Amino acid sequence: MAKCPKCGARNDEDSDFCEKCGASLKQKPDLKEKAVQGKRKNPALAAILPLLIGVFAYLYFPNYKKFFAYLAAVIIAFALFNWAAYLLTPWMMYDCYREAKKINGEG
Ligand SMILES: [Zn+2]
Repeated sequence: MAKCPKCGARNDEDSDFCEKCGASLKQKPDLKEKAVQGKRKNPALAAILPLLIGVFAYLYFPNYKKFFAYLAAVIIAFALFNWAAYLLTPWMMYDCYREAKKINGEG
């Protein structure tokens, strides 16, 4: 038995449309919309995160590939140039901002 997402009427499992109201039984628009909503990221917050938590900002998305890449870059930069590793922060802020926009489908 397939329950109609619109009116709650019971339909045959293999029917594509509700016998009572005609709504599609195959797609679940509410669920899909919620998933997209949950995936949205705040670009302003994303831009400020590297300033507060450094490379851990990438766990906000989460983008583990970039997290480990920047973690390695920061460690190497610290070993070679010491304080100059902080120069990576403005770049990561810009990059995180772009990442959030991309996830929201705005970039
Ligand atoms: Zn229905």
